[in-house]
Amino acid sequence: MLSVIIPIYNEESLIDELVIRITSTLKGIGESYEIIFVDDGSSDKSVELLLKKRDEDTNIKIVSLSRNFGHQAALTAGLEYSKGDYITILDGDLQDPPELMAEMYSSLITGEYDVAIGYRKKRNTDNKKRRVMTRIFHYIFSRISNLEDIEHTGHFSMMTRKAVDALLSMTEKSRYLPGLRSFIGFRQIKIEYTRQARSSGESKMKLRQLIRLAADAMFAFSRIPIRFCLTLGLSGVAIFLFVGVYVIVSKVAGWAPIGWSSTLISIYFLGSVQLTFLGILGEYLFRIYKESQNRPLYFVKEVFE
Ligand code: UDP
Ligand code: MG
Repeated sequence: MLSVIIPIYNEESLIDELVIRITSTLKGIGESYEIIFVDDGSSDKSVELLLKKRDEDTNIKIVSLSRNFGHQAALTAGLEYSKGDYITILDGDLQDPPELMAEMYSSLITGEYDVAIGYRKKRNTDNKKRRVMTRIFHYIFSRISNLEDIEHTGHFSMMTRKAVDALLSMTEKSRYLPGLRSFIGFRQIKIEYTRQARSSGESKMKLRQLIRLAADAMFAFSRIPIRFCLTLGLSGVAIFLFVGVYVIVSKVAGWAPIGWSSTLISIYFLGSVQLTFLGILGEYLFRIYKESQNRPLYFVKEVFE
């Protein structure tokens, strides 16, 4: 059986087209299927529309979360809920063409691969600001994490049950699914496609959410931020040892300068370095705190099977 997981957050204008395209692709594949819509606390008519669709096709299921928990939590809810042998995660905005599932399926069914990932040849989509920010994130992320190229891959992918179980066995609370998916390994294949512009409505990811996701990714998959503190701290110590010797020597020798600028510079420098490090430490501390609270990632309000 195939499971398709689609997070939905106020996407009423898209649901008709979405359901039509997904069902026709799945019917083309010809296996039994379930389509799991995870309603991430939508406040528009999305759920109502989905319920109508469910009346027409009993393979449609709706998991309604108790409020908006975010993209990653919604996808995780869907993954946990799915029962299929091949599981697809797909954005609800049709930026990822559902038709590609046929190709993904044919590369998994042979047993040669466990994960088929949509690989974006071109991003003819997002606005300029978003594109620039995404580039910067991936530039840094690919250098500081040990994960393979995920710049051109998003969430869109099909996985075998084995891979999904591996993914779900990682229960961390700050989740960046493309990173986790790369982390689990197995045999992965990339399948090229051109990412479309959102077919209707606006991006539901607020700038704040995107920045948080980028931070989660970097802190979860790299040691560099905390290493960077140590390296810079140690170089600071080395520099100030030399400076200290210089200060003492010049004091003793009697040519100590009036030294207003040097004092000010070192205060600013040390102050800002310390604040930066406290900030970085705080990021880790916050994540450790969140893990130790061990709260569920989401709450389910209602399930419509
Ligand atoms: N989404 C969600 N919860 C959120 C934000 C988004 O379930 O808090 C869903 C949204 O409905 C869509 C998918 O996640 O199906 C991707 O969101 P969007 O297209 O807005 O993000 P972008 O493509 O701009 O990153
Ligand atoms: Mg989108």
